[in-house]
Amino acid sequence: MITQETFTLKKMIKELESIKGRHTELVSVFVSAGSNLQDSIDQVKNEQSTANNIKSKANRKNVVDALEKIIQHLRTFRKTPKNGLVVFSGNVSENEGKTNIKLWSMEPPIELKKKVYWCDQVFILDPLYEMVKEKEIYGLIVMDSKEADIGFLTGKRIESVLHFDSAVPGKTTKGGYSQMRYQHVREALLNDFMKKIGENASKIFMKEKNLKGVIVGGPGPNKEIFMKGEHLTDMVKRKVLGIKDVSYTGEYGLEELVNRSEDLLKEASLLHEKELLEKFFENLRKDGNVVYGLENTKKVLEIGAVDSLLISENFELWHATLRCQTGHDKITDLIEFDLDKQKCEICNTNMNLIDKKEVVEIITEKTLEFGGVVELISVDTRQGKQFEKIGGVGALLRYKV
Ligand SMILES: [Zn+2]
Repeated sequence: MITQETFTLKKMIKELESIKGRHTELVSVFVSAGSNLQDSIDQVKNEQSTANNIKSKANRKNVVDALEKIIQHLRTFRKTPKNGLVVFSGNVSENEGKTNIKLWSMEPPIELKKKVYWCDQVFILDPLYEMVKEKEIYGLIVMDSKEADIGFLTGKRIESVLHFDSAVPGKTTKGGYSQMRYQHVREALLNDFMKKIGENASKIFMKEKNLKGVIVGGPGPNKEIFMKGEHLTDMVKRKVLGIKDVSYTGEYGLEELVNRSEDLLKEASLLHEKELLEKFFENLRKDGNVVYGLENTKKVLEIGAVDSLLISENFELWHATLRCQTGHDKITDLIEFDLDKQKCEICNTNMNLIDKKEVVEIITEKTLEFGGVVELISVDTRQGKQFEKIGGVGALLRYKV
Protein backbone atom coordinates (compact mmCIF):
# COMPACT_ATOMS: atom_id res chain seq x y z
CA MET A 1 0.00 0.00 0.00
CA ILE A 2 1.29 3.43 -0.89
CA THR A 3 0.58 6.06 1.76
CA GLN A 4 0.47 9.83 1.33
CA GLU A 5 3.69 10.16 3.34
CA THR A 6 5.74 7.73 1.26
CA PHE A 7 4.28 9.15 -1.94
CA THR A 8 5.37 12.70 -1.00
CA LEU A 9 8.79 11.43 0.01
CA LYS A 10 9.17 9.45 -3.24
CA LYS A 11 8.34 12.56 -5.24
CA MET A 12 10.88 14.62 -3.33
CA ILE A 13 13.56 11.95 -3.84
CA LYS A 14 12.88 11.91 -7.58
CA GLU A 15 13.26 15.66 -7.83
CA LEU A 16 16.46 15.70 -5.74
CA GLU A 17 17.96 12.83 -7.77
CA SER A 18 17.66 14.90 -10.94
CA ILE A 19 19.77 17.76 -9.55
CA LYS A 20 23.52 17.75 -10.19
CA GLY A 21 25.77 20.51 -8.88
CA ARG A 22 28.40 22.09 -11.07
CA HIS A 23 30.70 22.19 -8.04
CA THR A 24 30.46 20.67 -4.56
CA GLU A 25 27.64 23.05 -3.72
CA LEU A 26 24.67 20.84 -2.78
CA VAL A 27 24.14 20.58 0.97
CA SER A 28 22.35 17.75 2.81
CA VAL A 29 21.56 18.13 6.51
CA PHE A 30 19.84 15.40 8.55
CA VAL A 31 18.73 16.27 12.06
CA SER A 32 18.29 12.93 13.87
CA ALA A 33 15.19 12.18 15.99
CA GLY A 34 15.60 13.26 19.60
CA SER A 35 18.72 15.33 18.95
CA ASN A 36 19.15 18.95 19.99
CA LEU A 37 18.16 21.30 17.17
CA GLN A 38 20.49 24.07 18.33
CA ASP A 39 23.46 21.65 17.95
CA SER A 40 22.57 21.17 14.31
CA ILE A 41 22.19 24.92 13.76
CA ASP A 42 25.60 25.50 15.38
CA GLN A 43 27.17 22.85 13.17
CA VAL A 44 25.79 24.43 10.00
CA LYS A 45 27.03 27.86 11.19
CA ASN A 46 30.47 26.30 11.69
CA GLU A 47 30.43 24.87 8.19
CA GLN A 48 29.45 28.31 6.93
CA SER A 49 32.56 29.92 8.33
CA THR A 50 34.69 27.11 6.87
CA ALA A 51 32.98 27.66 3.51
CA ASN A 52 34.27 31.23 3.51
CA ASN A 53 37.66 29.73 2.59
CA ILE A 54 36.44 28.22 -0.69
CA LYS A 55 38.65 29.60 -3.47
CA SER A 56 36.18 29.95 -6.35
CA LYS A 57 34.16 33.09 -5.68
CA ALA A 58 30.95 31.86 -7.35
CA ASN A 59 31.07 28.48 -5.61
CA ARG A 60 31.83 30.09 -2.25
CA LYS A 61 28.80 32.36 -2.54
CA ASN A 62 26.50 29.48 -3.51
CA VAL A 63 27.59 27.31 -0.59
CA VAL A 64 27.44 30.14 1.97
CA ASP A 65 23.98 31.17 0.70
CA ALA A 66 22.67 27.58 0.75
CA LEU A 67 23.90 27.19 4.34
CA GLU A 68 22.29 30.51 5.31
CA LYS A 69 19.00 29.31 3.88
CA ILE A 70 19.26 26.10 5.95
CA ILE A 71 20.06 28.03 9.15
CA GLN A 72 17.07 30.34 8.61
CA HIS A 73 14.84 27.34 7.95
CA LEU A 74 15.99 25.40 11.04
CA ARG A 75 15.29 28.49 13.16
CA THR A 76 11.60 28.34 12.21
CA PHE A 77 11.29 25.19 14.38
CA ARG A 78 10.97 25.41 18.15
CA LYS A 79 12.57 21.98 18.51
CA THR A 80 13.47 18.89 16.48
CA PRO A 81 10.28 17.29 15.05
CA LYS A 82 9.38 13.83 16.37
CA ASN A 83 11.01 11.83 13.58
CA GLY A 84 13.81 14.32 12.92
CA LEU A 85 14.22 16.49 9.86
CA VAL A 86 15.85 16.24 6.44
CA VAL A 87 16.89 19.48 4.75
CA PHE A 88 18.48 19.97 1.34
CA SER A 89 19.66 23.19 -0.24
CA GLY A 90 21.81 24.28 -3.15
CA ASN A 91 22.10 26.10 -6.43
CA VAL A 92 19.81 24.51 -9.03
CA SER A 93 20.32 27.06 -11.82
CA GLU A 94 20.99 25.39 -15.16
CA ASN A 95 22.99 28.37 -16.40
CA GLU A 96 26.62 28.80 -15.37
CA GLY A 97 27.07 32.09 -13.57
CA LYS A 98 23.43 32.35 -12.55
CA THR A 99 22.20 31.48 -9.08
CA ASN A 100 18.94 29.94 -7.91
CA ILE A 101 19.25 28.57 -4.38
CA LYS A 102 16.40 26.22 -3.51
CA LEU A 103 15.51 24.50 -0.24
CA TRP A 104 13.63 21.25 0.47
CA SER A 105 12.62 20.08 3.89
CA MET A 106 10.58 17.23 5.27
CA GLU A 107 9.88 15.37 8.48
CA PRO A 108 10.52 11.73 7.48
CA PRO A 109 7.80 9.08 8.03
CA ILE A 110 10.23 6.96 10.10
CA GLU A 111 12.61 8.04 12.88
CA LEU A 112 15.85 9.37 11.48
CA LYS A 113 18.68 7.57 13.30
CA LYS A 114 21.76 9.32 11.95
CA LYS A 115 22.93 12.91 11.91
CA VAL A 116 24.38 13.94 8.55
CA TYR A 117 26.11 17.01 7.21
CA TRP A 118 27.35 16.67 3.65
CA CYS A 119 28.32 19.03 0.83
CA ASP A 120 28.74 17.46 -2.60
CA GLN A 121 27.77 17.58 -6.28
CA VAL A 122 24.76 15.41 -5.44
CA PHE A 123 22.36 15.25 -2.50
CA ILE A 124 22.69 12.41 0.03
CA LEU A 125 19.55 10.27 -0.38
CA ASP A 126 20.51 6.77 0.80
CA PRO A 127 18.76 6.92 4.19
CA LEU A 128 15.57 8.06 2.43
CA TYR A 129 15.53 5.11 -0.02
CA GLU A 130 15.22 2.80 2.98
CA MET A 131 12.18 4.73 4.18
CA VAL A 132 10.11 4.44 1.02
CA LYS A 133 10.68 0.72 0.75
CA GLU A 134 7.67 -1.11 2.06
CA LYS A 135 8.61 -3.18 5.07
CA GLU A 136 6.78 -6.32 6.06
CA ILE A 137 6.73 -7.35 9.70
CA TYR A 138 6.56 -10.93 11.00
CA GLY A 139 6.60 -12.32 14.52
CA LEU A 140 9.08 -15.10 15.38
CA ILE A 141 9.16 -17.68 18.17
CA VAL A 142 11.86 -20.30 18.70
CA MET A 143 11.70 -22.66 21.65
CA ASP A 144 12.65 -25.96 23.24
CA SER A 145 12.16 -27.15 26.81
CA LYS A 146 15.14 -25.09 28.06
CA GLU A 147 14.71 -21.64 26.55
CA ALA A 148 12.62 -19.50 24.24
CA ASP A 149 13.13 -16.40 22.12
CA ILE A 150 10.57 -14.00 20.74
CA GLY A 151 11.48 -11.59 17.97
CA PHE A 152 10.52 -9.70 14.84
CA LEU A 153 11.52 -9.86 11.21
CA THR A 154 11.21 -6.34 9.74
CA GLY A 155 12.17 -6.19 6.08
CA LYS A 156 15.44 -8.13 6.21
CA ARG A 157 16.31 -7.24 9.79
CA ILE A 158 15.91 -9.80 12.58
CA GLU A 159 15.47 -8.42 16.05
CA SER A 160 15.31 -10.43 19.27
CA VAL A 161 12.83 -8.87 21.70
CA LEU A 162 12.66 -11.29 24.61
CA HIS A 163 14.68 -14.29 25.78
CA PHE A 164 13.87 -16.47 28.76
CA ASP A 165 15.02 -19.73 30.32
CA SER A 166 12.75 -22.41 31.72
CA ALA A 167 12.80 -24.18 35.06
CA VAL A 168 12.03 -27.48 33.33
CA PRO A 169 14.51 -30.19 34.40
CA GLY A 170 15.95 -32.91 32.16
CA LYS A 171 13.96 -35.94 31.11
CA THR A 172 15.28 -38.45 33.62
CA THR A 173 15.31 -38.27 37.39
CA LYS A 174 18.40 -38.33 39.54
CA GLY A 175 16.68 -37.71 42.84
CA GLY A 176 14.42 -39.77 45.04
CA TYR A 177 11.19 -39.28 43.08
CA SER A 178 9.62 -42.21 41.35
CA GLN A 179 9.95 -41.88 37.55
CA MET A 180 6.20 -41.41 37.16
CA ARG A 181 5.91 -38.69 39.78
CA TYR A 182 8.97 -37.00 38.25
CA GLN A 183 7.39 -37.00 34.77
CA HIS A 184 4.27 -35.47 36.22
CA VAL A 185 6.15 -32.58 37.81
CA ARG A 186 8.20 -32.06 34.67
CA GLU A 187 5.11 -31.86 32.47
CA ALA A 188 3.50 -29.31 34.75
CA LEU A 189 6.63 -27.14 34.64
CA LEU A 190 6.81 -27.48 30.85
CA ASN A 191 3.19 -26.43 30.56
CA ASP A 192 3.87 -23.36 32.74
CA PHE A 193 6.79 -22.48 30.53
CA MET A 194 4.71 -22.73 27.37
CA LYS A 195 1.98 -20.64 28.95
CA LYS A 196 4.58 -17.98 29.68
CA ILE A 197 5.85 -18.07 26.08
CA GLY A 198 2.30 -17.79 24.74
CA GLU A 199 1.36 -14.88 26.99
CA ASN A 200 4.49 -12.89 26.24
CA ALA A 201 4.46 -13.57 22.51
CA SER A 202 0.77 -12.63 22.25
CA LYS A 203 1.36 -9.38 24.14
CA ILE A 204 4.40 -8.44 22.04
CA PHE A 205 2.83 -9.36 18.67
CA MET A 206 -0.55 -7.70 19.35
CA LYS A 207 1.17 -4.33 19.74
CA GLU A 208 2.34 -4.51 16.12
CA LYS A 209 -0.75 -3.57 14.12
CA ASN A 210 0.86 -4.28 10.73
CA LEU A 211 1.96 -7.80 11.64
CA LYS A 212 1.69 -9.96 8.52
CA GLY A 213 2.24 -13.33 10.13
CA VAL A 214 3.92 -15.42 12.80
CA ILE A 215 6.37 -18.32 12.41
CA VAL A 216 7.13 -20.82 15.17
CA GLY A 217 10.21 -23.03 15.27
CA GLY A 218 12.62 -25.00 17.42
CA PRO A 219 14.41 -28.32 17.79
CA GLY A 220 12.33 -31.30 18.94
CA PRO A 221 8.59 -31.76 19.45
CA ASN A 222 7.86 -28.97 21.99
CA LYS A 223 6.87 -26.39 19.36
CA GLU A 224 4.07 -28.71 18.15
CA ILE A 225 2.94 -29.33 21.73
CA PHE A 226 3.00 -25.56 22.22
CA MET A 227 0.79 -24.94 19.18
CA LYS A 228 -1.72 -27.63 20.21
CA GLY A 229 -1.87 -26.18 23.72
CA GLU A 230 -3.84 -23.01 22.88
CA HIS A 231 -1.17 -20.83 24.47
CA LEU A 232 -1.43 -18.00 21.94
CA THR A 233 -4.45 -15.69 21.79
CA ASP A 234 -6.84 -16.43 18.91
CA MET A 235 -5.83 -13.29 17.03
CA VAL A 236 -2.16 -14.21 17.06
CA LYS A 237 -2.85 -17.90 16.42
CA ARG A 238 -4.74 -17.03 13.25
CA LYS A 239 -1.60 -15.30 11.99
CA VAL A 240 0.64 -18.35 12.36
CA LEU A 241 1.96 -19.16 8.88
CA GLY A 242 3.70 -22.40 9.81
CA ILE A 243 5.96 -24.39 12.11
CA LYS A 244 9.58 -25.16 11.18
CA ASP A 245 12.29 -27.45 12.51
CA VAL A 246 15.44 -25.56 13.42
CA SER A 247 18.58 -26.75 15.22
CA TYR A 248 18.95 -23.88 17.68
CA THR A 249 17.09 -21.50 19.94
CA GLY A 250 18.50 -18.07 20.80
CA GLU A 251 19.49 -15.48 18.20
CA TYR A 252 20.96 -18.19 15.95
CA GLY A 253 17.62 -19.95 16.14
CA LEU A 254 15.69 -16.84 15.04
CA GLU A 255 18.05 -16.42 12.11
CA GLU A 256 17.78 -20.07 11.11
CA LEU A 257 14.00 -19.88 11.38
CA VAL A 258 13.88 -16.98 8.92
CA ASN A 259 16.25 -18.75 6.52
CA ARG A 260 14.08 -21.87 6.54
CA SER A 261 10.83 -19.98 6.08
CA GLU A 262 11.41 -18.39 2.68
CA ASP A 263 8.47 -20.32 1.22
CA LEU A 264 6.09 -19.19 3.96
CA LEU A 265 7.23 -15.57 3.74
CA LYS A 266 6.85 -15.43 -0.03
CA GLU A 267 3.36 -16.89 0.16
CA ALA A 268 2.29 -14.50 2.93
CA SER A 269 3.60 -11.48 1.11
CA LEU A 270 1.46 -12.37 -1.91
CA LEU A 271 -1.62 -13.33 0.12
CA HIS A 272 -2.96 -9.78 0.39
CA GLU A 273 -2.56 -9.24 -3.36
CA LYS A 274 -4.34 -12.50 -4.11
CA GLU A 275 -7.27 -11.65 -1.85
CA LEU A 276 -7.56 -8.19 -3.33
CA LEU A 277 -7.58 -9.45 -6.90
CA GLU A 278 -10.01 -12.25 -6.11
CA LYS A 279 -12.39 -9.60 -4.80
CA PHE A 280 -11.75 -7.49 -7.89
CA PHE A 281 -12.48 -10.30 -10.39
CA GLU A 282 -15.48 -11.52 -8.43
CA ASN A 283 -16.98 -8.02 -8.50
CA LEU A 284 -16.18 -7.82 -12.18
CA ARG A 285 -18.12 -11.03 -12.90
CA LYS A 286 -21.06 -9.78 -10.88
CA ASP A 287 -20.91 -6.40 -12.63
CA GLY A 288 -20.24 -4.86 -9.22
CA ASN A 289 -18.34 -1.90 -7.93
CA VAL A 290 -15.20 -2.09 -10.07
CA VAL A 291 -13.72 -0.57 -13.20
CA TYR A 292 -10.66 -1.41 -15.25
CA GLY A 293 -8.67 0.23 -18.03
CA LEU A 294 -7.13 3.68 -17.84
CA GLU A 295 -10.01 5.68 -19.33
CA ASN A 296 -12.65 4.23 -17.00
CA THR A 297 -10.34 4.51 -14.02
CA LYS A 298 -9.67 8.18 -14.75
CA LYS A 299 -13.40 8.88 -14.90
CA VAL A 300 -14.14 7.36 -11.48
CA LEU A 301 -11.09 9.08 -10.02
CA GLU A 302 -12.48 12.46 -11.09
CA ILE A 303 -15.66 11.95 -9.05
CA GLY A 304 -13.81 10.55 -6.03
CA ALA A 305 -15.46 7.13 -6.19
CA VAL A 306 -12.28 5.08 -5.80
CA ASP A 307 -11.77 3.04 -2.66
CA SER A 308 -8.67 1.11 -3.82
CA LEU A 309 -6.66 1.90 -6.92
CA LEU A 310 -4.87 -1.18 -8.28
CA ILE A 311 -1.80 -0.73 -10.48
CA SER A 312 0.26 -3.55 -11.98
CA GLU A 313 4.00 -3.22 -11.34
CA ASN A 314 4.43 -3.54 -15.12
CA PHE A 315 2.08 -0.67 -15.94
CA GLU A 316 4.09 2.08 -17.63
CA LEU A 317 2.65 5.05 -19.42
CA TRP A 318 3.64 8.69 -19.82
CA HIS A 319 1.25 11.62 -19.77
CA ALA A 320 2.97 13.73 -22.42
CA THR A 321 2.66 17.21 -23.89
CA LEU A 322 3.91 17.34 -27.49
CA ARG A 323 4.41 20.24 -29.90
CA CYS A 324 4.86 20.16 -33.69
CA GLN A 325 7.14 22.44 -35.70
CA THR A 326 4.23 24.73 -36.57
CA GLY A 327 3.25 25.03 -32.92
CA HIS A 328 0.25 22.72 -32.54
CA ASP A 329 0.05 21.07 -29.12
CA LYS A 330 -1.19 17.63 -28.24
CA ILE A 331 -1.62 16.10 -24.78
CA THR A 332 -1.78 12.31 -24.68
CA ASP A 333 -0.76 9.13 -22.81
CA LEU A 334 2.02 7.15 -24.49
CA ILE A 335 4.44 4.32 -23.81
CA GLU A 336 8.12 5.31 -23.62
CA PHE A 337 8.84 3.81 -27.05
CA ASP A 338 6.26 6.05 -28.79
CA LEU A 339 7.24 9.36 -27.17
CA ASP A 340 9.49 10.50 -30.04
CA LYS A 341 7.46 8.95 -32.87
CA GLN A 342 4.39 11.20 -32.94
CA LYS A 343 3.30 13.21 -35.96
CA CYS A 344 0.98 16.23 -35.86
CA GLU A 345 -2.58 15.38 -36.91
CA ILE A 346 -3.01 18.82 -38.47
CA CYS A 347 0.20 19.49 -40.38
CA ASN A 348 1.86 16.07 -40.27
CA THR A 349 5.24 17.36 -39.04
CA ASN A 350 7.20 15.62 -36.27
CA MET A 351 6.22 16.41 -32.70
CA ASN A 352 8.69 17.23 -29.92
CA LEU A 353 8.24 16.32 -26.30
CA ILE A 354 7.59 19.44 -24.17
CA ASP A 355 6.70 17.82 -20.86
CA LYS A 356 6.07 14.33 -19.45
CA LYS A 357 4.82 12.88 -16.19
CA GLU A 358 4.23 9.27 -15.17
CA VAL A 359 0.55 8.32 -15.37
CA VAL A 360 1.01 6.22 -12.21
CA GLU A 361 2.02 9.37 -10.34
CA ILE A 362 -1.02 11.30 -11.56
CA ILE A 363 -3.59 8.65 -10.68
CA THR A 364 -1.91 7.87 -7.35
CA GLU A 365 -2.04 11.53 -6.38
CA LYS A 366 -5.71 11.73 -7.33
CA THR A 367 -6.61 8.60 -5.35
CA LEU A 368 -4.84 9.79 -2.19
CA GLU A 369 -6.45 13.22 -2.54
CA PHE A 370 -9.88 11.61 -2.15
CA GLY A 371 -8.76 9.39 0.73
CA GLY A 372 -8.47 6.15 -1.26
CA VAL A 373 -5.65 3.64 -1.02
CA VAL A 374 -3.19 2.64 -3.73
CA GLU A 375 -2.03 -0.97 -4.14
CA LEU A 376 0.84 -2.04 -6.36
CA ILE A 377 0.17 -5.47 -7.84
CA SER A 378 3.03 -7.81 -8.72
CA VAL A 379 2.93 -10.30 -11.59
CA ASP A 380 4.08 -13.10 -9.25
CA THR A 381 0.58 -14.54 -8.92
CA ARG A 382 -1.79 -16.01 -11.52
CA GLN A 383 -4.30 -13.27 -10.65
CA GLY A 384 -1.60 -10.60 -11.01
CA LYS A 385 -0.77 -11.80 -14.53
CA GLN A 386 -4.45 -11.82 -15.44
CA PHE A 387 -4.77 -8.26 -14.11
CA GLU A 388 -1.83 -7.14 -16.26
CA LYS A 389 -3.54 -8.63 -19.33
CA ILE A 390 -6.67 -6.51 -18.89
CA GLY A 391 -4.59 -3.32 -18.85
CA GLY A 392 -2.84 -3.35 -15.48
CA VAL A 393 -4.93 -0.59 -13.95
CA GLY A 394 -8.32 -0.64 -12.24
CA ALA A 395 -10.21 0.26 -9.10
CA LEU A 396 -12.51 -1.07 -6.42
CA LEU A 397 -15.22 1.55 -5.94
CA ARG A 398 -16.99 3.03 -2.93
CA TYR A 399 -20.34 2.82 -4.75
CA LYS A 400 -21.62 1.69 -8.10
CA VAL A 401 -21.10 4.25 -10.87
ZN1 LIG B 1 1.09 20.79 -36.49
